[in-house]
Amino acid sequence: MKFTGRTWLVLLAGLAAGATLRAEDTRPAEPAKAKSPPATTWNMKDKIVKTDAEWRALLTPEQYRITRQKGTERAFTGAYWNTKQPGVYRCVCCGLELFSSDHKYDSGCGWPSYWQPLKAEHLATAEDRSWNMLRTEVLCARCGAHLGHVFDDGPQPTGLRYCINSAALKFEPKNAPAPSGPKTGPEKAGSDKTGSAPEAPGEPKKPAAP
Ligand SMILES: [Zn+2]
Repeated sequence: MKFTGRTWLVLLAGLAAGATLRAEDTRPAEPAKAKSPPATTWNMKDKIVKTDAEWRALLTPEQYRITRQKGTERAFTGAYWNTKQPGVYRCVCCGLELFSSDHKYDSGCGWPSYWQPLKAEHLATAEDRSWNMLRTEVLCARCGAHLGHVFDDGPQPTGLRYCINSAALKFEPKNAPAPSGPKTGPEKAGSDKTGSAPEAPGEPKKPAAP
């Protein structure tokens, strides 16, 4: 009978969902240690764990929304999408060094973009299936802050684009004593005017959210 069959299906689906939820609830500490998983690096020794209230007290509402609630700032509105000074970008929540200006590039997407992290082990990644998309979320490996996403449309040599929310970062300019010489000029490819020309010549190519 049709009705019975459907009832069974519903029942089964409900059971499966329940089982999944329960499995996630009672997730064991970390049973996978022998294999050393390559992508997800949640095994930093000095992990920082705070309550929701503690994070809320520590961060601005915008920083809290983005880092602790997986939010996204609007394109071209963040503090660092167009920053070109040399320096280090730290996690706004815990101060861990995450990205370097050496690996920052102008992707045209309106968010700070890097083709590699400062240290791979300072980042964790996770599968993100929100908004009907399959994306790879990027998190701070020490405090679990949501930073943005990583895409595979970046420049060589990695081919990656770490698309990161400015609000998740804290920029620490390098007080370079000798800015002379062509040594520290990673971005002179398409910029003839220095400083006061924030307008990208073309239209944004990849408006994918971080
Ligand atoms: Zn952090």
